[in-house]
Amino acid sequence: MTSELHNVRAPVPLRRIARSLLDAVLPPQCLACPTLVDRPGRLCPDCWTRIDFVSAPYCACCGIAFEYDAGADAICGACLRERPAFDRARAAIRYSDESRDLVLGFKHGDRTHGAAAYGAWMARAGRELCQDADLITPVPLHWTRLFTRRYNQAALLGHAVASATGLAMRPDLLIRKRRTASQGRLSAAARERNLRGAFRVNGRCADDVPGRRILLVDDVLTSGATANACAKLLRRVGAATVDVLVLARAGKPR
Ligand SMILES: [Zn+2]
Ligand SMILES: [Zn+2]
Repeated sequence: MTSELHNVRAPVPLRRIARSLLDAVLPPQCLACPTLVDRPGRLCPDCWTRIDFVSAPYCACCGIAFEYDAGADAICGACLRERPAFDRARAAIRYSDESRDLVLGFKHGDRTHGAAAYGAWMARAGRELCQDADLITPVPLHWTRLFTRRYNQAALLGHAVASATGLAMRPDLLIRKRRTASQGRLSAAARERNLRGAFRVNGRCADDVPGRRILLVDDVLTSGATANACAKLLRRVGAATVDVLVLARAGKPR
């Protein structure tokens, strides 16, 4: 049985079952490296010191870290020039060389066992946003991507934040209408063009939006173009506020 699992790449659900069985009998690993830890959902002491948990001071709007404290209401230059369509964004950790394996393993590598821990980190980092929200919804994947990846990492995080906070979760409030090109190397303007018309509100959930304070959840915030496109749409159909909560925030402190 074991050798079969090694020789043939099992279908994803089987692999996942095999992994959770293994997780149950093997000592748990650190979320970011192969070091063994005493309980699942933990970082080893080394990763704990290397992974950069976001804390104040940061931009009151987009949450980018500040190198010096300019006061709790200080806004960064980019937000001063043009306010994003969302109200506030917060992140649990900074996306860096140290956290890359953790983030990408969760996104592409089937390493989803950290979701509950990440949800707890996010609930802590976004405490005010969670207190002010009526419901959580994730940034959606296009169905073809969902089909190949088998899970939407943003939805897993959304469920984890919902169970850490007791907030309502609407996993299918937003729908990704078309598959967008990878945003990696695009300029800010090209990212915005790339996402134009990419999302729509699910007709079955349309009543959930007007007057509601929505907490949009995603795994990584880079330029903010995706969060902005979703927030614009939610505002257009009547959301009272749209805040954004992510696992990891890219970008150097300003
Ligand atoms: Zn580690
Ligand atoms: Zn800002």
